[in-house]
Amino acid sequence: MNIKYIFLTGGVVSSVGKGVTAAAIGRLLKERGFKVSIQKLDPYINVDPGTMSPYQHGEVYVLDDGAETDLDLGHYERFVDIRLSRVCNVTTGQVYAEVISKERRGDYLGGTIQVIPHITNEIKNRIHMVARTTGAEIVLVEVGGTVGDMEGQPFLEALRQMRSDVGVENTLYIHVTWMPHIGATGELKTKPTQHSVRELRSIGISPDMILARSDYPVDQELCDKIALFCDVEPRAVIPMVTADQLYEIPLLLEKAHMVDFLLERLQLESRQKPDWRVWESMVKKLRHKKPGVKIALVGKYVELHDAYMSVREAVRHAALDVGLEEEILWIHSADLERGRGMELLQSADGIIVPGGFGERGIEGKILAARFARKNAIPYLGLCLGMQVMVIEFARALLQDDDVNSTEFDPSTRHPIIDLMPDQRQLSDMGGTMRLGLYPCQLQPGSTAAKAYQAEQVDERHRHRFEFKNAYRAQLQEAGMCFSGLSPDERLVEIAELTDHPFMLGTQFHPEFLSRPTRPHPLFRAFLSAINELRAG
Ligand code: GLN
Repeated sequence: MNIKYIFLTGGVVSSVGKGVTAAAIGRLLKERGFKVSIQKLDPYINVDPGTMSPYQHGEVYVLDDGAETDLDLGHYERFVDIRLSRVCNVTTGQVYAEVISKERRGDYLGGTIQVIPHITNEIKNRIHMVARTTGAEIVLVEVGGTVGDMEGQPFLEALRQMRSDVGVENTLYIHVTWMPHIGATGELKTKPTQHSVRELRSIGISPDMILARSDYPVDQELCDKIALFCDVEPRAVIPMVTADQLYEIPLLLEKAHMVDFLLERLQLESRQKPDWRVWESMVKKLRHKKPGVKIALVGKYVELHDAYMSVREAVRHAALDVGLEEEILWIHSADLERGRGMELLQSADGIIVPGGFGERGIEGKILAARFARKNAIPYLGLCLGMQVMVIEFARALLQDDDVNSTEFDPSTRHPIIDLMPDQRQLSDMGGTMRLGLYPCQLQPGSTAAKAYQAEQVDERHRHRFEFKNAYRAQLQEAGMCFSGLSPDERLVEIAELTDHPFMLGTQFHPEFLSRPTRPHPLFRAFLSAINELRAG
């Protein structure tokens, strides 16, 4: 079969859920027996989001191969239940870096390098690479930002060219727009959608389908109006009201019969009847009233919940599985340092200290770990959260507050967390951490091994610092178990406390591998421990 391409562009405003929509469509197609992959094209000039502040960009999502990517890739992986690769996130920075390095090598034989065709060709190469490296039959391509953004133009031009390159029957354009609601008259407005489609047309792309997002129900009349003004078939206008449960979106799109139209246009026959039973029962469970559980998330980017997207989702998956309804208590670690937020921490059933970088708020995180240890509150440390847990434990053991990571105090007396040797000489910050999937061997009988029911696991990493082995024996004797090690036993991957209901930290990021219908074993164990404590 020819490879089929579905392109998603955004209109009117950003942040209307294009990523989740792409992810949901991917799931619908997978349910019909197709091998699907999803790619995000990000028009910003950074090479990847790895060097961007979470305040700017939200979470940095890490893939198996160590690519640091946009958080939309997390939606793609969770909804479609696939593992993506580096080729699935392209930025303007990557495209230009490649073209410029080819130019310096002399690959262009004296030609003048221009946006069209050189940049657009490089973009198209990268789109073609998805099917080549992942074996996908259908590739969904989401363009970040909205139509009309200056940075996005080369990407849209590349998408336009794709239709004549690979054929009308192999390409489909979906435009995702937003319908504002006018409170005074109680109306939804289609005009911005019309304008944005006109803008798209002016660059030569005529959308085949319009997904009209809104916060209010959309009636047929409005859909017909969009169809008429935007020149698409009425059945190709899909209204999409904001859902209170993200995971309901594939089911809603299924009900709207959008796939029939997609398959028809792409000249495909469904290979199997979709089987939504497991997904549906997950969504049904989400809707049920369940006993509440309060999870304190102690971080430094808590104002922006997107900075912890995968952690939040992983908690949700696990809570659902254990039969609980999670409430996240967002606690700013710097607040704890100033004596604020303590009541909130005290009201938590469990504490998570997620990943992070830099010194700000670190003492607040250590305080949270101390609180969890002393009060036997279940604690899950993710990457930095493990480092913090180890620092706290060592400070108590050595009766010395001058125990730290050299990331936060280069001249600390006890550098219990220190730069990995291969990190010392690096001058480039981008893409140089220990990134991606690495194996971890589990100690039989440990909390970790029991949770995973396995001897060895592979997990995704993103860190520069590691536990210093000189302290291993001392901490072990005092009750810390290093239950996960790299196969050469050089790197500590998991630390846990033996004398505690659940206090465990991982040097990796388990949150990236959690799925709505398959929660991550460690998150599940954390929530089970909370549940058992509450049951008394
Ligand atoms: N800053 C720490 C390190 O680089 C932790 C990183 C993280 O939490 N992702 O090792």
